[in-house]
Amino acid sequence: MSVKEHTENDIITQLQSMKKGSTMRKQLIFLGPPACGKGTQTNKLADYLNLPHIDTGSLLRAEIKGQTPNGIVAQSFIDKGQLVPVELVASIIKDRLSQEDCQHGYILDGFPRSLEQAEALEAMKEEINGDDAVDFRAIYFDLDQEVLISRIVNRRSCSVCGEIYNVKFHPTKVEGVCDKCGGTLTQRKDDNEEIAKARFETYFRETAPLIDFYKNKGVLRTINANGSIDEVWERLLEVIK
Ligand code: AMP
Repeated sequence: MSVKEHTENDIITQLQSMKKGSTMRKQLIFLGPPACGKGTQTNKLADYLNLPHIDTGSLLRAEIKGQTPNGIVAQSFIDKGQLVPVELVASIIKDRLSQEDCQHGYILDGFPRSLEQAEALEAMKEEINGDDAVDFRAIYFDLDQEVLISRIVNRRSCSVCGEIYNVKFHPTKVEGVCDKCGGTLTQRKDDNEEIAKARFETYFRETAPLIDFYKNKGVLRTINANGSIDEVWERLLEVIK
């Protein structure tokens, strides 16, 4: 091989490895108790990384709104603060992750929420990723529990773009009107004290064990989720680098 050929081959190899690095899919999942702020941060992160934001709660609420067979089943569980059956959620997620826009990565918010769902996600990843290298991380929002109930009952979201507000801690400029798109704010039906308590019980029983599950796999990153939106955002950027 001539010196010229040798150099050309080296450059091609270098370019290929750079391309591989830059296209390595980021697959991020977010864990944390209800109202820990992951919805706000994952919305922001999806814009920042230009990745699809897949939020199971919103997908289920859309099914309920459309009164689909899945929506009708889901509603009875959501109204009690319980987890919707794994088969139903896993099939919605599998369809979504198989879509074209998830090819270069995704942000999963609210799935998995139990060990059974985490195992289902492992199987999906194997099927969808094949042998491709992916940058998979589980990001856990750790914060003081006292603030959570108050965050839940004061939470409002835009009925048009989904932006999340809080009447006490992060109000809109004009009451009831989204700062971002002018849409009307609504309160989720399950954001009341009674259902919120059941959601916390479900979280500690079903979802909290995932912290150790992902820690044991070496992919867990924990961030301190106490503080303002900007403070948490800075910490989030550090762990997704
Ligand atoms: P969220 O908007 O993430 O707080 O979810 C609202 C409700 O949707 C939860 O309380 C559950 O009833 C249901 N839900 C959301 N994600 C899941 C999931 N991964 N598995 C089962 N149920 C879910």
